[in-house]
Amino acid sequence: MKCAYHPDKEATTQCSQCKKYLCNECSLPDGEISVICSRCAALKAAQDAVYDVGKQIEKKETRIETEKLKKKRKSMMWIISQWLILFICTAIIIIQFPRLISCFKAEKQIRHGSYSTDDRTDQCIKNLWLISKMLQEGKLPGDNIVCPVSKKPYVVTKTEDDVMVKAPNPGLYGFKEMRVSKKNPVPTIIK
Ligand SMILES: [Zn+2]
Ligand SMILES: [Zn+2]
Repeated sequence: MKCAYHPDKEATTQCSQCKKYLCNECSLPDGEISVICSRCAALKAAQDAVYDVGKQIEKKETRIETEKLKKKRKSMMWIISQWLILFICTAIIIIQFPRLISCFKAEKQIRHGSYSTDDRTDQCIKNLWLISKMLQEGKLPGDNIVCPVSKKPYVVTKTEDDVMVKAPNPGLYGFKEMRVSKKNPVPTIIK
């Protein structure tokens, strides 16, 4: 047998890939025992290179994909935490809402003369002043002092260290409360 590349030379081996007969000069070692021709060796090298590049691209793509996933997860977490914060804030606002409202609607005390009142209200306030004077003197209002509208007596509430007298029907004057006490002798009117 002659070498496939040197027709004048005697072949000694065979290429493990293309099975061509090769002389000593043409045979290249391919691993431990097999032999390969230069053309197959070049082809194999090229294939390996392409395979390596493919692997590297794949690796890179996987890495990019992983990073993308990480970023996505991160942004998801960020969105979730934002919603959570918003939810907590909303919950706090809802829970504290009545208190918040009461801040704006602080009990408005109306002093005598600082609010346009009708005759009946004025009479009731006059009564409270009278009762205030009585409280200061250590006396309590009797049934003779009555609400100008409902004709009911004023309500006396005794506490440990104070005596409070309230108009029986403040709603008839359009108020929430009309009161005077021994400790706070100025009639207090709450809208
Ligand atoms: Zn070959
Ligand atoms: Zn040869």
